[in-house]
Amino acid sequence: MMSEKSETANSRRSGWVPRFIRLTKRRSHPTKGLIEPQPYCGLLRCSCGMMITAENKIKRQKCGTEHHYVYYRCSRKSKTVKCVEPAVRSELLDRQLSELLGGFALPLALADKMREMAEMDERTEKMATGTKIDGLREQTTHLTAKLQRLLDSFLDGVVEREVYVAKKAEIMSKKKSLEEKISDFTLGQIDWVEPLKNWLDKAVSICKIAKSDDQNAKKSLLLEIFGLNLALRDKNITAPPCQNPISPSFNLWFSLRENLKKYRAERGEIAKSLILEP
Ligand SMILES: [Zn+2]
Repeated sequence: MMSEKSETANSRRSGWVPRFIRLTKRRSHPTKGLIEPQPYCGLLRCSCGMMITAENKIKRQKCGTEHHYVYYRCSRKSKTVKCVEPAVRSELLDRQLSELLGGFALPLALADKMREMAEMDERTEKMATGTKIDGLREQTTHLTAKLQRLLDSFLDGVVEREVYVAKKAEIMSKKKSLEEKISDFTLGQIDWVEPLKNWLDKAVSICKIAKSDDQNAKKSLLLEIFGLNLALRDKNITAPPCQNPISPSFNLWFSLRENLKKYRAERGEIAKSLILEP
């Protein structure tokens, strides 16, 4: 026989259990208009300023065949404020984004040339720093010898104690400042070539990615280049034309695109400024 307590629990359960099952069932069958995470969510803004989200749509033909489409649209659309921007098919959006990304695709031959130039600059830089450090080390050795001579003179009684102490302090101070300079030069040799090479690899990878179906890779690159500055207006992507001062890597991407434009137009040599710019 069921106690009063368990009966209450049972009736309570009868309320939420079916509701839970209904919800689970609904979740396991994504159908009409249910928003699902799609690769290009979180990349674009609508012209009204809200983020763009995705929506699945199913079109059924009379014969019963179903066609699944992904549409990207303003996230405000379902809320009280009405946005006039139309939804755009995933394929159309992907085509536009791929084309935009393609502007930053660095041909391998050019990347190799730039790598070579960077290595040459690195060698020149290291040689110049090496020469400076060698010069400073020579001066330090000279001061050490001077210090030894001073000590000898003092021990031989040629030099007074007071003179010896004052002169020794002077030499030691010079020696210390030289050692500090050597240390500064050594530490100042920042390795900028490796980060540049990694960046070049990424720019080369765009050639393949822009042509591929890998929407996640495209999104990641577009976010790095444009941040959240890409907008959607009347089914068309609008991109900022120039540099964003907030992100330093941004400058390099835009500089690359400008140089690629010139390169493609002239079919000449790529400007050296491309790798020398910060
Ligand atoms: Zn909108």
